[in-house]
Amino acid sequence: MRADGREPIREASRLLAGRRNAVALTGAGISVESGIPSFRGSQGMWAKYDPMEYATLHSFMQSPRKVWNMLSEMVSVCGFAVPNAAHKGLATLEAMGVVRAVITQNVDGLHQAAGSRRVIEYHGNLDELVCVNCWKRFPTRDRWTPGDVPRCDCGEILKPNVVLFGEPIPWLAQEQAEEEARTCGVLVVIGTSAQVSPACDIPRIAKESGAAVVEINPEETSLSGNVADLHLWGSASEVIGRIIERLKEADDVTPGH
Ligand code: NAD
Ligand code: ZN
Repeated sequence: MRADGREPIREASRLLAGRRNAVALTGAGISVESGIPSFRGSQGMWAKYDPMEYATLHSFMQSPRKVWNMLSEMVSVCGFAVPNAAHKGLATLEAMGVVRAVITQNVDGLHQAAGSRRVIEYHGNLDELVCVNCWKRFPTRDRWTPGDVPRCDCGEILKPNVVLFGEPIPWLAQEQAEEEARTCGVLVVIGTSAQVSPACDIPRIAKESGAAVVEINPEETSLSGNVADLHLWGSASEVIGRIIERLKEADDVTPGH
């Protein structure tokens, strides 16, 4: 359903209120309004850095200094970023008992900063560095300085504890995400182009398990018109804000709710 008027917001709100066990799946697009560029699109980081050159485990191991140039930019940008109204809106929906978990592909920590409590970090987090030799972990702020390749006490290179292309998803995050997808009533997919595998399987798993899939994105994606039952066109902050307004109005007119 193409959805850009008032009705689709009402329809999404009705689904969310009715089932009360929604899960959100978020991607880089939800953090664009916090000043963190997404990877795809004309403003995306990939316009500057070719992913196959910069974001694979192989390229990291081959040329860590070069890859750290890109990573340093992300660590700096994410370090200054603060949650926007969309992150805060999801935390509000959790507090209202509407959303029970957020599965995020993002590595910026902004859902937790906004107050979301159950956050499944599918691709890890930039807050932590891990040694490629002895697996020792360090808070990024303790070891990283701009322009340097951070090193472990054992002398080896530290890698941000994020999933690069060619690395597996942390098993617990993958288990939890798939369990949430299999058992949710509504999956709200926000700001992801759904092109990165295996995260892009989560909407399909939810759909095949009987959930309604609601997409929030200002652009068309591979989910639009097929896996997504409803596409709410617009920025994450604007659409989530309108859903919350609508749910609150509905609560006002539903006695004892
Ligand atoms: P993507 O870059 O492939 O796609 C971003 C999507 O967000 C696009 O479909 C775009 O139309 C949409 N979008 C742009 N502005 C939006 C807005 N204001 N509101 C809602 N949607 C908006 O992102 P992806 O699918 O998440 O894949 C990129 C991968 O790179 C992720 O897996 C993630 O791990 C990583 N990444 C993370 C961050 C971060 O942590 N903030 C930033 C860049 C990339
Ligand atoms: Zn080490």
